[in-house]
Amino acid sequence: MSDSNQSPACLSPEQFHLPADFHFACHNSGRCCEDFWEIPLDETSLARLKQLPLSNLSPSFSDPAQYSEMSAGPKAGLSLRRVNGRCIFLDSARRCLIHAHFGAAAKPQTCQDFPFRYIRTPRGIFVGMSMACPSVRANRGPAIETRRQELADAYARSHSIATVSDPIELSPGLPISFSVYEEIESCLNDLLAWEGLTLDDRLIAGYVFLQLLERAVVQMSGHRREGPAGHWDECVRQMIPVFRNDRFRRVIAIARKAAGSRGLHRALIGLLLTYRSAFDARLRGRLGRSAYLFYQYVRHLGGLGSVGMPPLPARMALSQLRRVRADWNDPFFVHLLTRFAAHSLFRKDLIVFTPLLKGYGFLLVFVALMRWYAAGYAILRGAAEVGREDVDEAVGAVEKYYCFHTDFMRLFDQYPLLTGMVERMLAKPLFAPSMMRYHG
Ligand code: SF4
Repeated sequence: MSDSNQSPACLSPEQFHLPADFHFACHNSGRCCEDFWEIPLDETSLARLKQLPLSNLSPSFSDPAQYSEMSAGPKAGLSLRRVNGRCIFLDSARRCLIHAHFGAAAKPQTCQDFPFRYIRTPRGIFVGMSMACPSVRANRGPAIETRRQELADAYARSHSIATVSDPIELSPGLPISFSVYEEIESCLNDLLAWEGLTLDDRLIAGYVFLQLLERAVVQMSGHRREGPAGHWDECVRQMIPVFRNDRFRRVIAIARKAAGSRGLHRALIGLLLTYRSAFDARLRGRLGRSAYLFYQYVRHLGGLGSVGMPPLPARMALSQLRRVRADWNDPFFVHLLTRFAAHSLFRKDLIVFTPLLKGYGFLLVFVALMRWYAAGYAILRGAAEVGREDVDEAVGAVEKYYCFHTDFMRLFDQYPLLTGMVERMLAKPLFAPSMMRYHG
């Protein structure tokens, strides 16, 4: 997501769209201060830290080099030093020492921003929340609505901002305005809440709807992906009432009947789980990477071997993951995964980086990944069946490693080889049911 380092202008609180039914207060879990992620330290935050009597906390903190370090990777820059995978300022009681001694406003900007992200759109600022935070997942604390003024003030200082372009693309070459996108998003929300369908069918129905919509508007244009400004808006606006008047009957019938492929499910999820290794510096050259990706594709297609699933501490045998039982219609599982999907729509995850159809495809991939992770957490507990705590942890892990907080989507810009393989799988007619009907 395109975080900005520019401080934005002040806006009135009414220009902010807050997620309904979301509550939050920090409960000092410390989960945002540990693990793989780097905590960027911008110049203003560093200058603020230098003004504080940090040597009262530890004599070594009088030297900024003791609490900061240069990070590598695509976001290279100064960040807070981590010790044993935790921020150096996180104490043994999981309290932030800066917050505890000098107040919340003294913390680096990245820390003050979490778990919020502001998404700029032509219709105002949408305030998204990270489900990597256990308090957000558990919906603990006062309603977000009570913080409207505070969030508007925080936006003016924030570095956690993404921007939605206008127009966006329904699929490559089909530009649509943001207002038309919102009509489509409303249909996706309705399908996600459709009574009488399983969550799997509801998610598949969203993909079917987008595919049928794309096909219909291309047909209306004589199968040409070109047209004057506003042409695709006009086509989509004509088609949406057709789906609505039919009460999505055709979409739902297709989704209900759709059968998937276990091999496609394994191959795509396995490929994404191993993508980091594929671009390891040791695998130099296009040929080496191509061979590695092809090997991973075939191995996962056959369900062979094991896979690393950070932050799980051990590799998981694919055969073991498959043996873990789960009732994916358990009301808690359905509630949490539906909440994740609905909030992804709200915070515009589907259109910030990619055309809408591909963004929705990745939403299905992330839900499938959450099920793999839930099985992994169950194995770690020594359980044969996925429990509620496993699903809760899995949503947090996937949000942290693949969705909200990573450069995962940027990877596809950098590595056309991976992009090509993944896009071919996303375009297969069996893609959506393959993601949803299988769980390992
Ligand atoms: S400075 Fe405080 S809030 Fe920020 S990562 Fe470190 S412990 Fe957490």
